[in-house]
Amino acid sequence: MQRAQPPTTVLQTPHTPSHECGVFAVFGHPEAASLTYYGLFALQHRGQESAGIVSCAGSHAPFKAHRGMGLVSQVFAAKELEMLGGTRAIGHVRYSTTGSSTLRNAQPFSVETARGQIAVAHNGNLVNAAALRTELEQEGSIFQTTADSEILLHLLARPVMKQQNPLACLRRLEGAFSIVLMGEKEIIGLRDPYGFRPLALGKVDGAYVLASETCAFDLIKAEFIREIEPGEVVIIDQNGIRSEFPFAVQNSAFCIFEYVYFARPDSKLHGQGVKSVRVRMGRELARLHPVEADVVIPVPDSGIYAAMGFAEELKIPFDMAFVRNHYIGRTFIQPSQRSRDFNVRVKLNLIEEAVKGKRVVVVDDSIVRGTTARARVINLREAGAKEVHMRISCPPHKNPCHYGIDFPDPEKLLANQCTMEEIRKYLGADSIGYLSIEGMLAATGGTGSRFCLACFNGEYPVRYDAAFDKLIMEKQQKRPGLMDDDSAQQKLF
Ligand code: AMP
Repeated sequence: MQRAQPPTTVLQTPHTPSHECGVFAVFGHPEAASLTYYGLFALQHRGQESAGIVSCAGSHAPFKAHRGMGLVSQVFAAKELEMLGGTRAIGHVRYSTTGSSTLRNAQPFSVETARGQIAVAHNGNLVNAAALRTELEQEGSIFQTTADSEILLHLLARPVMKQQNPLACLRRLEGAFSIVLMGEKEIIGLRDPYGFRPLALGKVDGAYVLASETCAFDLIKAEFIREIEPGEVVIIDQNGIRSEFPFAVQNSAFCIFEYVYFARPDSKLHGQGVKSVRVRMGRELARLHPVEADVVIPVPDSGIYAAMGFAEELKIPFDMAFVRNHYIGRTFIQPSQRSRDFNVRVKLNLIEEAVKGKRVVVVDDSIVRGTTARARVINLREAGAKEVHMRISCPPHKNPCHYGIDFPDPEKLLANQCTMEEIRKYLGADSIGYLSIEGMLAATGGTGSRFCLACFNGEYPVRYDAAFDKLIMEKQQKRPGLMDDDSAQQKLF
């Protein structure tokens, strides 16, 4: 069989909606909407496509909502925050590279049900979304969005027997979900039983707050209390806070890629500072793939801390030779007459004298399609680097993620399609070295059983039926059911 060619395009192909998102919630604070706004600011790296807040002034008060496309700073101004007000609020930032990048998929979703108002914001990916949605539709549910998070609203809206726990429906969810919910009387935070995505609990001015990452607490000067446990549901209301554990216990499988790339370096996950873990990943990488070189440079921002660790370990000078333009944004239009790697080059510029005539180690956190790494090597060669050694602070990505990180189909993952030598040649590097799974685990200071490593080793903690999902997806796309007029849609929520 002929081996597939390495992918060469910089444009991303639409695939199923993914949810690399950030969530925030606060209960019992006079500045609930503003705190949520600041919290979302700190979580902006988890999603830049849309942002939203739903607030409420007290038990049984009407929910107020504002959502929009773009960055938190673009979606909210003083007048929106004033309108939202409230003493409770939940917020969401969403990231997606899919065609479903419309306002109707912007969260939090909120609805009026027979059981009162409910709002929900979700980080993760439900692996049984297609099956649940089909079942709910067959029973009469009418969906307004293409996001799997809406399924939860439909489940929660259903009538329950008096003696039944209204949260029992959560057991129907499978996959990755860190969720914040707002009901008539309470705010709820929950994590799936594997704990794929992070969710932390804090306190500010006596009010409880929940956030995807602890960096959100730093900004609002909230005290970190603890992480929500895998499988835990915390209910915060006028009486304080209590926990339920409605799910069957599972081995925890926290996404290790949160440490590698996704989380902010100033956050703490499982008690470990993300920055320190990244530095240790760089040190492990240096021990595994040492090289004689004159300078170590990171691909900013993602490779900075691993490059620092790498340089420290081998006692090679560290330099920020690539300069990042922070103002590109997701809507940047690639001029059609420019070269294919223009998108990548416009983000980073190289300081020639930092690398000219030198043996250079360039460190990045990961290679997905290989576009970024290849463009970096070309830049370095053009600037006169004598040797270019590529080092990657995580193992090769061979498998897609079904739990909320946007990795493409296997045929677009460079390490799925090529041998190590083919990767080196494709990138044009003198050498290539990836961190091993063992090295990565050692850097986190934990044991393998705590993490989901599926994108590296193909061992998926929760079964995902890709063929079934595709079938349902195709069926849904053929139906004219969903409205495309976003302005009309916003009124519905
Ligand atoms: P690629 O050019 O496709 O190989 O992308 C690799 C670059 O994208 C690296 O610099 C990573 O830091 C970054 N990256 C890795 N995973 C993701 C992701 N899920 N979403 C966005 N960027 C990512």
